[in-house]
Amino acid sequence: MGLLYTAQCPCGLEQPDLMEGCGFSGLDISYEIQTCSHCQIIYSKQYGADKKLYGKETCKKCYREVTRFVKVDGEEKYVCPRCGGQSLQFFQCGVWD
Ligand SMILES: [Zn+2]
Ligand SMILES: [Zn+2]
Repeated sequence: MGLLYTAQCPCGLEQPDLMEGCGFSGLDISYEIQTCSHCQIIYSKQYGADKKLYGKETCKKCYREVTRFVKVDGEEKYVCPRCGGQSLQFFQCGVWD
């Protein structure tokens, strides 16, 4: 089961529909949430069966190194890619399969 999250920060950053985890249908496909402080964006990145790529990960736009959220926790606060403060939170808002 994959989870859907909305990311929110008091600075105004809001990103809905972030997918995380694997779905029932395609066990080979999973999503991971990543942020790029350069582009100031949060997005879900899709991984295929070959999930070995656990080293450096780069932004799909600017190719700089990104911050990865392998598992997000609603209680936890994370560094916001826009304001740089440790005030970014993820709220679970559903499942994507
Ligand atoms: Zn970037
Ligand atoms: Zn912020």
